[in-house]
Amino acid sequence: MRTPKFWMLSFMLLALLFSCKKDTDDNGINDNNNQPEEKYKPWTQNEIDLIMSGEAHEPMRILLVDDLEDSLFLRTPTIDIKPDATDPVLRRLAERMLVTMNESGGVGIAGPQVGIGRSVFWFKRFDLPEKPFQFIIDPNIVFASERQIKFPWDGCLSMPGYGGSSTRHSSIFVEYYILEGGKEKNIFEGYSSTNFTSVCFQHEYDHLQGILFTDRVDE
Ligand SMILES: [Zn+2]
Repeated sequence: MRTPKFWMLSFMLLALLFSCKKDTDDNGINDNNNQPEEKYKPWTQNEIDLIMSGEAHEPMRILLVDDLEDSLFLRTPTIDIKPDATDPVLRRLAERMLVTMNESGGVGIAGPQVGIGRSVFWFKRFDLPEKPFQFIIDPNIVFASERQIKFPWDGCLSMPGYGGSSTRHSSIFVEYYILEGGKEKNIFEGYSSTNFTSVCFQHEYDHLQGILFTDRVDE
């Protein structure tokens, strides 16, 4: 025996299904009229305020895992930023991150460590004769070897005083943008006491995913 309530509910369910179907159709039609979504999200006012609050030579505050708010931010994946050498905010961020890293004696620093959730980092090119620092934008690890290595000297500016032996890929094939313009591709491999570019890259890249080196350290 079907009660009036049953028929009422059935009707509502059908109406709901129909409206969902209609929404999909409408969206399908609307998509043709929409502009393509901008690939890069512009700086937020908070980001601009933080980055431009100091001159190029002034360091930024390094976020620490000991602080609850800082640690939550360090665990948040970043988003890409448009690689644009004419962007004064991006240039200032790069300059201030370099000063921050140098003052702390680090060999790399990533956006989240200074409170900027963007896919940028500095890392040391031990593999080049001059061993320069390089600022890279929107990096991607295209390929990582299955073979892994133990890197005995990992550490992090956001965890002063801690060190450990991390597990890393033996080699990586990477691509990234540089501030001066253009995309670079590179292979970084292995490590020695004088060249751990590959591990340095992997450590900083992890920061962009919200991963900390202690996640790579076995007990
Ligand atoms: Zn780190």
